[in-house]
Amino acid sequence: MNQPPQDAEVIIIGGGIIGCSIAFHLTQIGIKDVVLFERQKLTSGTTWHAAGLVAQLRASQNMTRLAQYTAQLFKDLSDITGQETGYQQTGSLTLALNPERLEELKRQATLARAFDIDCETISPEDALQYWPGLNIEQAIGGVYLSGDGQTNPIDTTLAFAKGARQGGALIAEDTEVARLIIEDDRAVGVQLRSGESIRAKTVVLAGGMWSRHFAAQHQVTLPLHAAEHFYLVTEPIPSFTSMRPTLRIPDEQTYYKYDAGKLLLGAFELNAKPWGMSGIPDDFCFDSLPEDFTHFEPLLDQAVNRFPELEQAGIQLFFNGPESFTPDNRYLLGEAPEIKQLFVAAGFNSIGIQSSGGAGKVLADWIKQGRPPMDLWDVDIRRTFPFQNSDHFLFDRTHESLGLLYDLHWPDRQFKTARNQRLSPLHSSLIANGALMGEVAGYERPLVYQGKDESFAGIYTYGRPIWFHACQRECDAIRGTVALFDQSSYPIYALSGASALTCLQWICGRDMDIEINQVVYTQLLNDAGGIEADVTILRSAADEFLITGGCATARRDAYFLKTHAEAFDCTLLHREELCTLGLMGPQSKNLLCLMTDDQSCAALPFYRSMTTDVDGTTLRINRLSYVGELGFELVVDRTDAVDLFKHIQTLGEPFGLALAGFYAMNSCRMEKGYRHWGDDLTDQTTPFEAGLKFCVDLDKPDFIAKSALQALPKIPQKRLVNVAIVSDCAPHMIHDEPIFCNGQQVGLTTSAAWGHRIGRSLAVASIAHSGGVSKPWLQENRFEVEVAGQRYPVEIQFDAFYDPSATRPRS
Ligand SMILES: Cc1cc2nc3c(=O)[nH]c(=O)nc-3n(C[C@H](O)[C@H](O)[C@H](O)COP(=O)(O)OP(=O)(O)OC[C@H]3O[C@@H](n4cnc5c(N)ncnc54)[C@H](O)[C@@H]3O)c2cc1C
Repeated sequence: MNQPPQDAEVIIIGGGIIGCSIAFHLTQIGIKDVVLFERQKLTSGTTWHAAGLVAQLRASQNMTRLAQYTAQLFKDLSDITGQETGYQQTGSLTLALNPERLEELKRQATLARAFDIDCETISPEDALQYWPGLNIEQAIGGVYLSGDGQTNPIDTTLAFAKGARQGGALIAEDTEVARLIIEDDRAVGVQLRSGESIRAKTVVLAGGMWSRHFAAQHQVTLPLHAAEHFYLVTEPIPSFTSMRPTLRIPDEQTYYKYDAGKLLLGAFELNAKPWGMSGIPDDFCFDSLPEDFTHFEPLLDQAVNRFPELEQAGIQLFFNGPESFTPDNRYLLGEAPEIKQLFVAAGFNSIGIQSSGGAGKVLADWIKQGRPPMDLWDVDIRRTFPFQNSDHFLFDRTHESLGLLYDLHWPDRQFKTARNQRLSPLHSSLIANGALMGEVAGYERPLVYQGKDESFAGIYTYGRPIWFHACQRECDAIRGTVALFDQSSYPIYALSGASALTCLQWICGRDMDIEINQVVYTQLLNDAGGIEADVTILRSAADEFLITGGCATARRDAYFLKTHAEAFDCTLLHREELCTLGLMGPQSKNLLCLMTDDQSCAALPFYRSMTTDVDGTTLRINRLSYVGELGFELVVDRTDAVDLFKHIQTLGEPFGLALAGFYAMNSCRMEKGYRHWGDDLTDQTTPFEAGLKFCVDLDKPDFIAKSALQALPKIPQKRLVNVAIVSDCAPHMIHDEPIFCNGQQVGLTTSAAWGHRIGRSLAVASIAHSGGVSKPWLQENRFEVEVAGQRYPVEIQFDAFYDPSATRPRS
């Protein structure tokens, strides 16, 4: 580049497939003043050596929509831009070697069909028609997707780049960005290595595996780590006379790509090799890493057994290239919470080619609209936490994360590596009591308590889980006696200052001018009426409110609150010293009164709070319940939590006290139809669609979502509903199961659990009807859910299936 421009609307850092796709999509939606800087040559990072597989089958609906968009775009990209991409619609074939994998494939096929993706379940013999010479030993079935394909990653990137240039973008190679220019916590431009500064309204970091270190110099958390990623290409194979679909045998961690008469064999091995621990070399350009045949050999042996012709084929290329992986194997997209107008798109976990179209499109829309164009929580950068950025954490986790793509995507699967990052003050006590721990946002939480002879760790299924009966025991106690929950993972924030009330009135759906010691359940809303967070708020003083949010959403919630607190001149403080224990069940009140000697607890009304003293410890008692029983949340200083826990255990025995975990909590909340942010609720869901109309006070003076909510139809056309399978031998639902009304698909489940108090398979679902989702419409029609290809009649209702009049928590 001779002379860089002085300013641009959007600057993109990185000329891999992701940066070029973002540039292309920005120009497509009218943002033409785009400048992309690439430190070396386009594609010279990871993109150039990708295998180029383009698949559409993903584990969740939003990821499926994005992958589907990419596959459709690739069909047309060369026509749009005039640059050949090499895209071929080859189809793909995935085989299962065990029943659980087949179940997973059938569940994914059901989801794919819900999006009109052609996906056929096939027998092992059918597979032979697509892949002659394949050894189908152990194979028990599979799926075939005719619309999957493969592309040439370099040509596809160049097509994006050409399209972007045609739309007005400037692409500058051999131009390294040294750092961001930041003013008032906002990215306002970049400084090049050569010294020039260019100002911009928005900066996008799409620097592949370089992104983490680049971000770190500005204190931005971008947890990704490179790992070695291998494939080999054979000499021509005699029987490869025509194109074959891509073949995946995930149970052997391998994929097979037809490559112009040769075979490309790649793998997602279970114990990967992290790379680049001391940084990514500055001079890396179209480079590869040293071979490691010993590492690849066991996979090759399996492949020879699976496709015996491979034994005779010479190896033309053994390739080892680096790719970035994230702690949860999902990429990182969106505006960085630390710096306004800094957007990121990185950490593509070896699916960057097939994700490029979708990710580029939604990021471009996000930049233009100032908010995500669809639910992108799966990949939102705000789900990450600073502890994940440590070298040690990433190194450990990367061993595991590369293999996740082909590992079974079990419901409730737990990571094996990099655990115990954040611990409850009760951690040792919980473990001593048999807790099986599960991690959310690095926080170890009790999932379920194992009896003396029980051990559930690492045992997963799509059917009835091994912990089913243990969870039943806990739910019996919640309903019949009393149960104690460790809820210390829920963050508590204090919003204080003279304008705290004004701030909350602006962002909450509810009227927040409540009495001191009153608690409300409300949502934090955006100006489109979408739900940004689902919280309970206690007014602890005239000018102070304590806000309890979710564990997984802690960073996102804090970011939203902080941004608004600043605008209203009040202060947000994360009260990290506090933690909550939940005492739930019909005996909870009696136990509490015994514990405290303070009989005013007995008279504490529902949704009210008080403070008292237990054994010299100050305790705040909030009367509310997420499990639908009489219950109390006890807030104490973390240093006092163990004493309180022991005290409760000792006094609770005669009351039949049990410890209960998050599986039981989830079961109970599902029976009550309580929503969960991230599954049922998103920033695209309005409270009316969520069935949370009671949480909106449209009569209060102007608030952030008022005009958006007022404009909505009285009866929503899309709504969350409670679903129960009618049959006794019902399968367990997970999420994203399609719902049918008289045979027509009307929606998908958003979360699911077994309801132990009522013995039914339950879900929350989002369904749509152009005439409005009304009670009569639900009552007059016949509904079914499809699970793994099989349809089951369901009951659908607005009311909870358990205690619909909510008398139990008020008793
Ligand atoms: C062996 C292998 C096989 C793969 N196969 C597939 C596949 O079949 N299908 C699939 O979907 N994916 C596949 N992938 C993954 C895919 O290649 C990546 O996810 C994708 O290329 C990532 O693109 P990117 O643009 O994020 O990163 P990159 O391609 O690495 O691009 C980032 C660019 O940013 C530039 N840059 C960094 N810092 C700066 C700076 N400060 N200033 C200017 N420029 C900068 C770099 O030079 C680089 O060119 C494979 C990966 C590997 C390693």
